[in-house]
Amino acid sequence: MNDKKHITVLGSTGSIGTQALRVTEFADYAVDAIAFGSNIKLGEEQIRKFKPKFVSVNDENAAADLKMRVSDTDTKILSGKNCVCEMLEFLDSDVCINAISGFDGLLPTLTAIERFPRLGLANKETIVAAGTLVKQSATKNNCEIIPVDSEHSAIFQCLEGNKNKTVRRILLTCSGGPFFGKKMEDLKNVTVSDALGHPTWKMGAKITIDSATLMNKGLELIEAMHLFDVSPEQIEVLIHRESIIHSMVEYNDKAVIAQLGVSDMCLPIQYAITYPNRMESPCEALDFFKIGKLTFFEPDRENFPLLALAEKTAQAGGLLPCVMNAANEEAVSLFLDGKISFTDIFDLVYETVENYRNPSEFELSDIIKANFATRELVKNKII
Ligand code: NDP
Ligand code: MG
Repeated sequence: MNDKKHITVLGSTGSIGTQALRVTEFADYAVDAIAFGSNIKLGEEQIRKFKPKFVSVNDENAAADLKMRVSDTDTKILSGKNCVCEMLEFLDSDVCINAISGFDGLLPTLTAIERFPRLGLANKETIVAAGTLVKQSATKNNCEIIPVDSEHSAIFQCLEGNKNKTVRRILLTCSGGPFFGKKMEDLKNVTVSDALGHPTWKMGAKITIDSATLMNKGLELIEAMHLFDVSPEQIEVLIHRESIIHSMVEYNDKAVIAQLGVSDMCLPIQYAITYPNRMESPCEALDFFKIGKLTFFEPDRENFPLLALAEKTAQAGGLLPCVMNAANEEAVSLFLDGKISFTDIFDLVYETVENYRNPSEFELSDIIKANFATRELVKNKII
């Protein structure tokens, strides 16, 4: 039997996307298609190496340039609004990895669910903004969503083989980011480069800032709630500086099952493709004698208020998680552009969430509108 898997990688030029391609190369999978924003230099290298049938490039000028550069290949380049979704309609891959960053991943996620038997989901923002819709659509279309986020992959693994057991708590681990132990006063003057210095993981800029504010853990709490059908009260965040335990599940008898491994995203990416099987991976093995000890602390919700805000938002539900995510995406982008300070991110997201009137009923078009309107609101606040 020829079991060479066919993979599509969205966000192929990013941190997760490049590691997903490293996994496909290691396992000798076929890459059917890739999508990215504008990085045509790396995109061209990926086309020559992986020979995808289709490539979607969000930026139209970049796409036009790329078309010329790869005119000697058989790869078809698509671009323009909705090009990722259009491209997905042509494909028939076994697994689609969605590693586009931010809310822009939502429509590709929904289309991938309709097209493919399996979605390896790295793009947490869209499950935060539209978790209920995403889950409903996956059930309707019989698509398995396998988490790529390392904590959620860990929880997924800890739940395996325990289908009808009662989960007491999910213990969501958090590195604490580069500013662990700092007080609000110290955080006021941190620079973009300080905030980009994550102690244990090398990731894209947006998620690295989210890890520094602890918003990443807040988004992950909402992600876990949707993926594993648990209430926010059942999820406990633990600071674990070594990033060796990727998360844990506590059952009703108080037995705790944990998943451990080096801080290397190749492992969860690969498992999202190979599940329920395991195979050799390009990552290093854990060396427990080198690690020595594992430590745990309670998160500091006073000096890192976005975690508490996300917990409240998770309980409120409705469109509030979408609004919080949008305010955060805009605030992080303003911080990365040098337009606001680090602690302004806290204030902007907090104020936006506190002032939002949350409707009880909504559909996809309302989610898209709320995302857009919130980003405009935050942008206009600082002009
Ligand atoms: P990066 O910023 O490194 O990469 C983002 C990718 O998305 C790039 O390929 C970028 O293209 C592409 N992209 C951005 N906007 C669009 C768009 N509108 N259409 C098509 N492609 C687009 O991000 P990461 O890899 O760090 O993160 C990706 C997602 O995975 C995020 O949701 C993040 O939260 C999640 N995640 C990441 C982890 C990590 O270790 N990095 C861990 C767990 C989850 P271009 O390069 O051309 O701009
Ligand atoms: Mg994570």
